[in-house]
Amino acid sequence: MARKPLIAGNWKMNLNHLEAIALVQKIAYTLPEKYLEKVDVTVLPPFTDLRSVQTLVEGDKLGLTYGAQDLSVHDSGAYTGEISGAMLAKLGCTFVVVGHSERRTLHGETDETVRDKAKAALRHGLTPIVCIGEGLDVREAGDHVAYNVEQLKNSLAGLSADEIAKIVVAYEPVWAIGTGKVASAADAQEVCAAVRATLAEIASEDVAASVRVLYGGSVNAKNVGELIAQPDIDGGLVGGASLKADEFAQLSAIA
Ligand code: PEP
Repeated sequence: MARKPLIAGNWKMNLNHLEAIALVQKIAYTLPEKYLEKVDVTVLPPFTDLRSVQTLVEGDKLGLTYGAQDLSVHDSGAYTGEISGAMLAKLGCTFVVVGHSERRTLHGETDETVRDKAKAALRHGLTPIVCIGEGLDVREAGDHVAYNVEQLKNSLAGLSADEIAKIVVAYEPVWAIGTGKVASAADAQEVCAAVRATLAEIASEDVAASVRVLYGGSVNAKNVGELIAQPDIDGGLVGGASLKADEFAQLSAIA
């Protein structure tokens, strides 16, 4: 089954709403429309930028989508500081990242939290981008495939095959995030192939063939071509390079 590539720009905690408008305008006008037929391009700004990005994308019919970097496991109520899937859906979000390694390590999110967040996203019609990835110690010990398979299974435990069919998986080795040390295409493919085999095991072959598996970790316009040429890599989750309009548009066009 043909899978449309997806390039997702994770802005992390960067850019206020005015800067967000400027960046989205620049990306949209740098990336010719013909590419958007071949690749889905999404931006993932901070929560406070989403309303401005929505107004721009919908008003100017830009053809890009957008989403959030996190959501609450709850739908509403006394959860000070939290943002619900219902709120993100109302803002027109398509995607929401769950289980980014920065949430796992800095905010103590477990596989169970990630699973609950993926379920919360699906309840509101959002597509969760479920992140997994090993640290350097695991990679050096040669245990990376087993580690990622286990993390994926635990992060999707209890989701039905129909629900799994609606997610995106992002393999992001922690040692490659924000370090400039990209995984080799062969190393990234090895884990992404194991991800797909795991999806076949826990859902079905059809689901595994349709779910998009992204690679993330120091992706840029120079290395994206080789990564996306791998049979099980369907796009990229891009951090640093997504804040540079020219580079993000360029790497989206290559994908
Ligand atoms: C990320 O934040 O998901 C990421 C992959 O960052 P970078 O591209 O900067 O490594």
